Amino acid sequence: MPACVAPNLDAVRGSMDFDVIVLGAGIVGVSSALHLQDRGLRVALVDRRAPGEETSHGNAGLIERSSVVPYAFPRRLGTLLRYARNRSVDLYWDYRALPAYAGWLARFHLYARDYYSALATGKELLEIDEHYGRGFVWMGSAHLALGDADVALEWFQRGQALERAVRSYDAMIVRALAALDRKEEAQEILTRLEAESKQHYVRSEYLAMGHAAMGDLDRAFESLERAYQARSAGMIYLHLDPGYEPLRGDPRYTELVKRIGLS
Ligand SMILES: Cc1cc2nc3c(=O)[nH]c(=O)nc-3n(C[C@H](O)[C@H](O)[C@H](O)COP(=O)(O)OP(=O)(O)OC[C@H]3O[C@@H](n4cnc5c(N)ncnc54)[C@H](O)[C@@H]3O)c2cc1C
Repeated sequence: MPACVAPNLDAVRGSMDFDVIVLGAGIVGVSSALHLQDRGLRVALVDRRAPGEETSHGNAGLIERSSVVPYAFPRRLGTLLRYARNRSVDLYWDYRALPAYAGWLARFHLYARDYYSALATGKELLEIDEHYGRGFVWMGSAHLALGDADVALEWFQRGQALERAVRSYDAMIVRALAALDRKEEAQEILTRLEAESKQHYVRSEYLAMGHAAMGDLDRAFESLERAYQARSAGMIYLHLDPGYEPLRGDPRYTELVKRIGLS
């Protein structure tokens, strides 16, 4: 849960410093708070009642596929023009959000194993927003997949030097160090991350990539199981992310991919 869950604003005022206050602890508020916390922000989640007691308590628990899979890209010129002019209630886009869209494209190329396109899109993305942390992860991952561990390490380290870096991504540095046979440094980071995960939220699927890169498959699968139990969103890329490559031949990997419903 976020650093502080409180019944009203008075309860958090003066007690601690926060970067963000999320008002309302329904599914939207709790998810937003956890994501913000995952991005390194100190979050207070405020609700007049206990978390999840209003609309989120009553829902029927259906996950609608139509809302999970994005709608097909429109092809009719009229529709495209209407969307481009931002004069439609069914779609509103904000040019300031473009880096985030470019991010999806970079990730798409990376997972499609088109590493050169991933590098090109990642570069454009970072030209638009030089603080976009995940962009550095995708650049590093593409270089690593191309066998360029030195360059990958530079990208990962640059990303992790950003003020708002997500600590879980330190596991990417572990991957590059392991590829460069700098195992001691890699192990030090992994040990620190494991210790931190006892104090606050660290994404276990990234820890799994670190352990996998170090050849410790048992610990990698332990971490993946923790990520699965925590319903970590990153698990939906288990069958795609090159960081899981060392695990692919293992029957435990095949079983987990099946259990999540990705095969
Ligand atoms: C009967 C029913 C069935 C549903 N079934 C499904 C389903 O099967 N699948 C699905 O995807 N969706 C379903 N939904 C929709 C889904 O439940 C809601 O879209 C979702 O829960 C909304 O979440 P929320 O966080 O926006 O709102 P809420 O869960 O309502 O959270 C808002 C929170 O804000 C707090 N709050 C409000 N004002 C203040 C204030 N001034 N100060 C402090 N706190 C405040 C409230 O206490 C509350 O906890 C269903 C909804 C209903 C009613």
